[in-house]
Amino acid sequence: MTSADSSGTLSNLLLLGRGSDAGSERGVSCEGDLPTPADPELRERARAAKATLGSRVMILGHHYQRNEVIEFADITGDSFKLAQAAASHPEAEYVVFCGVHFMAESADILVGDHQKVILPDLAAGCSMADMASASQVDTAWRKFEELSITSSTIPITYMNSTAAIKAFTGKNGGTVCTSSNAERAMRWAFERGERVFFLPDQHLGRNTALLKLGLKASDCVIWNPWKKNGGLTDEEIVSAKVILWRGHCSVHGRFSVDTITDFRARLPEVKILVHPECKNEVVSAADLVGSTEFIIKTIEEAPSGSVWAVGTELNLVKRLAETFPDKTVHFLDKTVCYCSTMNRIDLPHLVYTLESLVAGRVINQITVEAEAAKQAKVALERMLALP
Ligand code: SF4
Repeated sequence: MTSADSSGTLSNLLLLGRGSDAGSERGVSCEGDLPTPADPELRERARAAKATLGSRVMILGHHYQRNEVIEFADITGDSFKLAQAAASHPEAEYVVFCGVHFMAESADILVGDHQKVILPDLAAGCSMADMASASQVDTAWRKFEELSITSSTIPITYMNSTAAIKAFTGKNGGTVCTSSNAERAMRWAFERGERVFFLPDQHLGRNTALLKLGLKASDCVIWNPWKKNGGLTDEEIVSAKVILWRGHCSVHGRFSVDTITDFRARLPEVKILVHPECKNEVVSAADLVGSTEFIIKTIEEAPSGSVWAVGTELNLVKRLAETFPDKTVHFLDKTVCYCSTMNRIDLPHLVYTLESLVAGRVINQITVEAEAAKQAKVALERMLALP
């Protein structure tokens, strides 16, 4: 969390994506000493600090977090459920969000002014959310303006996006969606316009368009923010029904059809269950596809003795395998596949956060600038009002 500069003193590190600091790992400074991961007292310290804070603190744990963190979570869930939980507990002065940066931002947008949202490690970002910056999206939208298609184009942004992108969506008549309501969001958008501008996950956008709305692959184009004109001709942009942002999840993008074929050859009884952030060929080859909450419910309700290969983050798959020993739950990849940024939140960071609060210091608070929060809230509220 801290690094020595050339003079040997401790210096603040850069926040994600701000400037460059070649000599150090990106992150933030810690005012105190982080307890070491091997500290045998760590769990006791977490318990004691949490008990001292009582109802003033609420700890939210995303399903992809490590068990050592989930153990202390008051509520576990996916990003949307946790944002809602934050909003529905006004008694909690401090919301400690054990997830990634965009989730804590959404919570900050939805909680009351008296509540503070804290991310135990500010370097816990999301590579997918970082694939769409506000200036890149603005460049695309200006191109759409030039082509006179903004009034017929409805932006939809996946929950896994920065507050700035949610604000862009709110300002331009669009909505946020999650992996569970992407189909409803897209149908809603097509009632209001001729095309959808889907950010930032191309796979969720494509899977929803093709598998849920019955559109053709040729109805979708990919806007590549690193290429002039998004790598598209004007004609391709204007005639597209869905313009997909070229973003993806580095974790779910790893699952492949080859691995599915291998599993089926070795275990003919296996059922393949994957998240819609996986590539279209993987989702098409799977037996079942759905959000994180859907995956959990499917395994919970599966008959004893059933065999599963699950394509989502490894912490969750391991936890499902441990929680349901009467079912066989495999991880659908040959190599380890954690969400490395999620994994930055660990027990030492949680203890550091809680003990700082006990000492009266609020560290790593996430605040979304007022105007962006207002516009982003419009997009989030449109999602909540989806039929
Ligand atoms: S699993 Fe993928 S989408 Fe989720 S936080 Fe990690 S990188 Fe982002």
